[in-house]
Amino acid sequence: MNSELRVALVTGSTSGIGLALAHGFAEAGYTVVVHSRSSVETGEKLAAALPAALYIQADLAVEADRARLIAQILAHYGRLDVLVNNAGISRVIPHGDLSAASPDIWHELYEVNVVAPFRLIALAQEALKNSAKSGTPGCVINISSHAGVRPKGASIPYAATKAALNHMTKLLALSLAPDIRVNAIAPGLVDTPLTADWADAHTLWQTRSPMRRAAKPADIAQLATMLAANQYVTGEILTADGGLNLT
Ligand code: NAD
Repeated sequence: MNSELRVALVTGSTSGIGLALAHGFAEAGYTVVVHSRSSVETGEKLAAALPAALYIQADLAVEADRARLIAQILAHYGRLDVLVNNAGISRVIPHGDLSAASPDIWHELYEVNVVAPFRLIALAQEALKNSAKSGTPGCVINISSHAGVRPKGASIPYAATKAALNHMTKLLALSLAPDIRVNAIAPGLVDTPLTADWADAHTLWQTRSPMRRAAKPADIAQLATMLAANQYVTGEILTADGGLNLT
């Protein structure tokens, strides 16, 4: 194995922000592990187009799949240097409609948006720690949301899971330093299939945000590769909302 090879797993990387992250990390010289829950053909095609990349299918709501995902990466490459917890789910529910935010929805969102990132970090902990032996700390980047920072967002369960992910980011940054850095990116609105029909949100960003537009997935990917290139910053929640929080 090439000792310079650095491996980055991007969860949920066949669409939206994850797709841009996969391209961004490949362009930054990483060997990328492409992952998705169901789009196997798209994932395999993407992996075939990126240097030395590997595609792995896994449902991150299922613990056995999380364990298999990390085990397959380590069996194939023998290392994991960067873990980008991008996969996430949302539900649009008016905040005042408390009965629509059912226990099932709370559990589903918590499992994918909070428990899954934590478990992937736990399963990859030794590998990420080993990464520090080559002189560069292991790196975790959690893709959170501005909804986890301010009382906003598609629904209260979604916003609360992202707030939990932000707090987890800081707790893990403290407990895993200095061998592993843990940071989060909290995007505002990003142009992805998920938000294509969120007309009100697009109008808000075009009229109120200082940058006058939603983010492109590539804006978020560029921030993530910047964070990965840095060797010092840890425990930060980087808001990427085009300045909307200033208004
Ligand atoms: P997307 O729906 O295109 O991507 C989400 C990815 O997560 C998909 O590939 C999906 O398959 C994967 N995923 C969901 N559940 C999964 C499961 N159980 N197992 C495995 N994979 C699963 O949406 P996106 O907009 O690209 O979102 C990516 C991340 O960015 C999410 O965490 C989202 O919460 C966050 N985010 C998005 C926006 C936005 O405006 N688009 C804003 C803030 C934060």
